[in-house]
Amino acid sequence: MRLQANNILLFIEPEKKDEKPVDDELTKKIQYAFDNFVEDNLVVGYLDKKSKKNEAFIHKGQHTWGLHHCKCGKDTSDNGDYGISIDGKIYYTNSLCVHYVKYHRSEVPQRDLELIDRIQMK
Ligand SMILES: [Zn+2]
Repeated sequence: MRLQANNILLFIEPEKKDEKPVDDELTKKIQYAFDNFVEDNLVVGYLDKKSKKNEAFIHKGQHTWGLHHCKCGKDTSDNGDYGISIDGKIYYTNSLCVHYVKYHRSEVPQRDLELIDRIQMK
């Protein structure tokens, strides 16, 4: 599922397969945020049409039935999504978030890169 919403991060489906992995500050930051996730046991749904804030609906206490495989074949998602904290706000992402930043950097939206850059590592 590919999704853009204000409370979502890195819901992308990369198209390219062979990209050089990037191990830089952004990769470290998303790894840090994911290692320190603040919510789990949830599934990111589609856009909440009743919300005027352009946010995706979060189904708490649920799991997906299928696992998502990245096109490159290198990684597979968990059967649930995660909430990570950036600047005191929770953004919902999936377990492939670190993989996308490291292996599919050219396909990560600029807005997501800017958000990741704001992650504070303690
Ligand atoms: Zn991949």
